[in-house]
Amino acid sequence: MRFRSVAASQAEDPPEADVTALVEAGGRVTGVRAETPEGSLTVRADLVVGADGRHSTVRANAGLETLDLGAPMDVLWMRLSRRPTDPEQTLGRIDAGKIFVMLNREDYWQCAYVIEKGGFERVHQAGLASFREEIARLAPHLRDRVGELGNWSDIRLLTVTVDRLRSWHRPGLLCIGDAAHAMSPIGGVGINLAIQDAVAAANILAPRFRQGGIGDNDLRAVQRRREFPTRAMQAVQVFMQNRVIGRVLESTQRPAPPLPVRLLGRWPLLQRLPARLIGLGFRPEHVRMPAGA
Ligand SMILES: Cc1cc2nc3c(=O)[nH]c(=O)nc-3n(C[C@H](O)[C@H](O)[C@H](O)COP(=O)(O)OP(=O)(O)OC[C@H]3O[C@@H](n4cnc5c(N)ncnc54)[C@H](O)[C@@H]3O)c2cc1C
Repeated sequence: MRFRSVAASQAEDPPEADVTALVEAGGRVTGVRAETPEGSLTVRADLVVGADGRHSTVRANAGLETLDLGAPMDVLWMRLSRRPTDPEQTLGRIDAGKIFVMLNREDYWQCAYVIEKGGFERVHQAGLASFREEIARLAPHLRDRVGELGNWSDIRLLTVTVDRLRSWHRPGLLCIGDAAHAMSPIGGVGINLAIQDAVAAANILAPRFRQGGIGDNDLRAVQRRREFPTRAMQAVQVFMQNRVIGRVLESTQRPAPPLPVRLLGRWPLLQRLPARLIGLGFRPEHVRMPAGA
């Protein structure tokens, strides 16, 4: 059986108009081609913004150079129903070689079972019954509903990637969000960063459009503004991936909580730091309304 590897958001929401290629003229990007349920479409634009996630077609077609930072894990993503008597908070379970996270989505648990990179074949070969049993063992209160995982199509393989483009732009084209810098799920910061990129791009580019058009310097200014918070956050994610996640996945005995987690438990004041980093990031952005708007 083959598994579709999808972006977190794509797992639930495939695009209606699927961009398949860039339109170019004289070394400049001037639009995109897309496939829609009604047929093919060409859209021309002064600026194409690639915001199509970590498997970005726009990025691939633009031929922009990527720096791959690596990720030791992939994620199996599934839903299990939530009962009123279940705990409220997000739950995480760690055991030898295993990480299981449950996110409270009111009427269901969004569950993430973390596996070593490329490890899906191993899990699949062990069989669905063994997978269900593993989840019930890690989260006993889910034992009465692991049967909701009726076949493998109820479980999505999400490939984790951490990378960034050396240059986020070409004449007529700008990449933002995961298309410019794919984020790991660690910390749940990728959506914030993608939105902050969009706000920064709008703040910098909207006035230039009003003044008659944008040039390469304006696109460069967007990258300059957003590159530092991206690099800093990816450095934190790669540190956590290698020092915590990778070690847990390799462990054969129940691991002790890693040092950063122990420190957070000992000094509650320190807990404000990750909360601030996750909530606001290294460089918060605010929408700037132009005068008279
Ligand atoms: C397993 C996993 C769990 C994660 N969990 C979290 C989390 O809890 N919180 C968090 O903040 N971050 C999380 N992240 C990271 C987060 O998903 C990304 O950093 C974030 O979604 C990036 O936003 P984006 O808008 O750039 O891309 P995406 O959210 O991926 O959005 C891209 C959009 O483009 C569309 N698209 C793709 N290709 C095309 C095409 N060819 N034509 C037209 N449209 C297209 C897609 O349908 C999608 O709507 C997780 C990542 C992974 C791998």
